[in-house]
Amino acid sequence: MLKFYNYDIVFQEIPDEVTLAVNITNCPNRCPHCHSTFLWKDVGEPFNEENAGIILKDYREAITCVSIMGGDNDPKEVNRMAEWLKKTYGVKVGWYSGRETLADGIELKNFDYIKIGPYIEALGSLKKRTTNQRLYKILPDGKREDITFRFWKT
Ligand code: SF4
Repeated sequence: MLKFYNYDIVFQEIPDEVTLAVNITNCPNRCPHCHSTFLWKDVGEPFNEENAGIILKDYREAITCVSIMGGDNDPKEVNRMAEWLKKTYGVKVGWYSGRETLADGIELKNFDYIKIGPYIEALGSLKKRTTNQRLYKILPDGKREDITFRFWKT
């Protein structure tokens, strides 16, 4: 089960997209120096069709993408909700995972963007060239294009 703490319209998490970022709780990753420890607790409202529908009713016209920020506690549910969001709203879907590798049960056809990698303070966030994290664009043929460089200022 996925629960969400809050959501916001953001412009930097996914390049070229206006994104509704939904912050999922019960994060199991426990990255040292995490900036979002409030997401470690099992709190919030269910991120299901009913609540996502209420949010999208207000914001669908304003956004191009929904990004599920977290959900490593239940990747199969992330996959299911991604498929539902795409089919129901025709919106692009992103997922921010803190795992090193893509979880079992994730079908790339349900996603347009996937970020993987835990936060490692010494290597920095996506904005740092030294980062271990990667943001992939999922191409129509199912291949992954690494677009992490889009976060780096030239
Ligand atoms: S994945 Fe994100 S929220 Fe979870 S512990 Fe790591 S930095 Fe914090």
